[in-house]
Amino acid sequence: MSEAFPTISNQDQPHIWAIAPNADALKVLAEGIWNCALQTNQRPLVVLSTAGPLIGLRAALEKTRPTVLGNQIAFLPQVISFTDWLEAAPNAWKFPKKQSDLERWISVYVNLRKHPKLKTWFKAESDAGAWGLAQAVIDACDALSEVIIPQLQAELNSLLETHSLDVEAWLKKVELVLDQAIAKAYVGLSRKVVDEESEVLLAFWRYLTNIGDPVIRKHLAMADHLQVIKTNQQTRNRASRPFIWVQTADPKLVDQELMNGYLHEYAQFASVVQVSLDWQSAALWPEALCGLDIEGQIAVASSDERQQVTNNVQDNRREGWRLLAARRFEDLAWGATKSIEAHLIAGKKNIALVAQDRLAARRARALLGRLGGSLRIRDETGWKLSTTRAAAALDSWLALIRSPKEGPTARTLLEFLQNPYFDLARSLKISSETSIGLTAQLEDILIASQAKSGWQTFLMAIERANHYAATNGGSPNGQLHELITFISQRHRAWQHEILACSTAYELLQNDLQAMGMYERLEKDAAGKQLVETLKHFDLSAGVYQGIKMRLPEWLSLLKTVIEEASYEEEGKDAKATLSILPLSSTRLRQFDAVVLVGCDEQQLPAFSEPPLFFSDTLNRLLKSSTIAAQYVQQARDLSALLVTCPNVDLLWQSKSKSGEPLRPSAWIQRLQSSLKHSNPLQVTDIKFESYAGQSAPIQMAVSTPAQDLPIPVTVSPSAYKALRDCPYRYYVSSLLGLRKAKEFEEGFDASLAGQTLHALLKTFFQALKTEEEKPHSAIGGGAVRRQWMMDHLKQGSEKEFERLVAGDARVLGTLRDWQKQIPSFVDWQLKRENEGWRYHDAEMPVSFTLILEDPDGISREIKIAGRADRFDIQVNNDTAAAVIDYKNQKMKKIAQRAEYILNDPQLLIYARAVNENPVAAHLPGRTVDQAEWVSLKAELDKGEAKNIRANAVEDMPTLMDQFSVQIEKDLQVLWARQPMQAFAPNSVCQYCEARGICRKGMW
Ligand code: SF4
Repeated sequence: MSEAFPTISNQDQPHIWAIAPNADALKVLAEGIWNCALQTNQRPLVVLSTAGPLIGLRAALEKTRPTVLGNQIAFLPQVISFTDWLEAAPNAWKFPKKQSDLERWISVYVNLRKHPKLKTWFKAESDAGAWGLAQAVIDACDALSEVIIPQLQAELNSLLETHSLDVEAWLKKVELVLDQAIAKAYVGLSRKVVDEESEVLLAFWRYLTNIGDPVIRKHLAMADHLQVIKTNQQTRNRASRPFIWVQTADPKLVDQELMNGYLHEYAQFASVVQVSLDWQSAALWPEALCGLDIEGQIAVASSDERQQVTNNVQDNRREGWRLLAARRFEDLAWGATKSIEAHLIAGKKNIALVAQDRLAARRARALLGRLGGSLRIRDETGWKLSTTRAAAALDSWLALIRSPKEGPTARTLLEFLQNPYFDLARSLKISSETSIGLTAQLEDILIASQAKSGWQTFLMAIERANHYAATNGGSPNGQLHELITFISQRHRAWQHEILACSTAYELLQNDLQAMGMYERLEKDAAGKQLVETLKHFDLSAGVYQGIKMRLPEWLSLLKTVIEEASYEEEGKDAKATLSILPLSSTRLRQFDAVVLVGCDEQQLPAFSEPPLFFSDTLNRLLKSSTIAAQYVQQARDLSALLVTCPNVDLLWQSKSKSGEPLRPSAWIQRLQSSLKHSNPLQVTDIKFESYAGQSAPIQMAVSTPAQDLPIPVTVSPSAYKALRDCPYRYYVSSLLGLRKAKEFEEGFDASLAGQTLHALLKTFFQALKTEEEKPHSAIGGGAVRRQWMMDHLKQGSEKEFERLVAGDARVLGTLRDWQKQIPSFVDWQLKRENEGWRYHDAEMPVSFTLILEDPDGISREIKIAGRADRFDIQVNNDTAAAVIDYKNQKMKKIAQRAEYILNDPQLLIYARAVNENPVAAHLPGRTVDQAEWVSLKAELDKGEAKNIRANAVEDMPTLMDQFSVQIEKDLQVLWARQPMQAFAPNSVCQYCEARGICRKGMW
């Protein structure tokens, strides 16, 4: 039961009134406010210490409006939160400019640089750590100011009283008073603190505190309000409107002292009503009833008080209280979801999900997503802006600009290009139709060539792809080159050791504009908020505009600020609303049902992290929040919640992550024990509804190509190998055309380096051929020839690899490995020349055609086509030629390859292609009767290089015959559309992309 509203008299003390925090609290409070209006015939000013109950109270005031009201009080009483009231100070315009959080962080940064003593103390390892530390320093300094500044209140009051019209001069005076107070307090405090950490913090506080700090502004605003009320009374000689202060939560000791003193002073000039909460009938535990004693410890309850609490529990027991225990995290989230669903089905419209366990609440939120737009979810626990898609898009650009000057990794680049806010068409000034598929094309090229990092590497990969397209009937795409150039130019603009914050802000804005991201962000709810957050970085008008930082420092600051920002979801009409909120936000609010998730003994009560810096001594001096105070406050919040709301579900996880049993919160256990004889509270176990079904073991995958499934009429050596390895694999990759989304593998892959190696060998042998054809060539034979080859290969290698190394320094290792191979490679080449073989051509596309008759009697032409690495000709025999395939493999691997040549008949395909059409292969009159693999990665220390760099195919004629019969048979089977079975040895399956489809391992 709440007390009756006091009679307003002319007393110069605040009138004290307490209300019970039960379901009627807002109604009683509203009636009291109207009562005050009627008694004083003035429109009261109601200030709430927290903003939570604001809307509820206004609604209650509307509902309880008396029928007869004088003109003076016809309007709804003004209800405002403490923060808004401070902002509304009449002379706020002349207060010192409010420092933004960002400016305060930067001031910590500047002070760290200015004061070496502090710098040596705060060695934060990372940039992010440094900004986190700056935040902690600011919080701690505010806490110190909170204690010290009230001592200044009298001086601030008198300064405001006597302020001249010259705002500058007034500010200077305020500053002087502040400085003096800080200096005095510093000496006093530093005598009391003994540990060095606090000493450093005090020093920081001394350097940092200035009149733009929020704490100072708060006191100035309070003094200003007081001043206005005083002036009003003196000049107009009439009573000011009553001031009603509603303390919605237990204040910190420092705040309580401040407010008590302030209200007392205010009461000298206007009627003041100080409203607090009366726990007599609402407390469900003794600590909620008795609170703290004067020592700041939890007060011990008397037997009467204990009896009162027992009565409260019996009186307030509701049938709608439910205790639900879940064994696992998923069950807990599922249980919370089901509870909410049940309340919705029961027609409840305003439901609260109290996120004592934030993870479980998030999970439940995700599960509730399937209810769609009919349920509006308002997350008051602070959904971070950094978790939105818009922030991820910006982050992808930040990741790119912080890449080294050589360029980003392909993954970073693609992540940025694929973000939906990047406007490719606008960036390249092309039509949106033309831009379609450009990023996907770039991705294909980079992955195919394994171009993993560096602008030069990307450009090379694009050039090669374009060259290939141009020489193979495709169309090269110049826009890919432009795209890389465009992004790399923007990236280059950021490559400075040190950047002025204003320049960095400008650069970022320009980037976002030029890439069309700004416009797209503006169209999106989260994007709009992100753009607003970014505007805080515009320091051009402030004192910190010239501050310079390293790029990683600035980026880290940017990320920290975005991390701190909350995303406010757009409100939309829905059939019901679910508010996700912390326990403290339920104060004096009304809900149809509440689901409280995380009521285990570890999470209820939950205590805030202790301040980073304060030792116990300093903490006591600061009169700030203590564990005991938090404990009492949560007991009161939970009591109020249970007493106010008829339907409360309390859920917890009964087993911890490590499998240890977890009990419900002690408060729940105590409720259970109080109620066990009268109206017991039973615990229900949350169980998943299980669904039964029968599964049949799956068989080895086999598929028959459908009649309308086109069969490729061109077969590459690798496709034929796939068909030989496993018909099902061929079915998936070549007939269905399914490909795994390729990714960049970890570590450095030599694919682009391998291509470069092939290209440089071609260039080298062409140069050798040209040199030999010169009439007076000095190349000759023996040592001179060897030296020429060595020199040219070495220089050529450096040149060919130059751009690759510029793009990715790791390629240097591959280049050096290859350069070590050069002498023995030259020896092998010379040996081959001594046997009469001469280089003829390289990178040569060759093909042959098979004519088959399919089961329908239709004749089919199938082209078997590939690109041979190199052809040699025999100078002692006008009809002989050889085909060579370079392999970036060790000889052991090549020997294994030779054993199964019929399953991987690449060399045989090239040989047959030349033999069937020597003119097309530029080998008129010759037959390829020799084929070999040549290793470019021979193990030099094992002596491989000297003798066995090459592995020749043995018994070519027999193999060629066998191959010809085999390929015809295989293709006949394929065209007959016979069942294609999945079978292959594990060595093949290990890297097979179709594994997820054939389900190898399940059968
Ligand atoms: S995983 Fe093995 S059996 Fe399955 S499709 Fe691939 S190669 Fe064939």
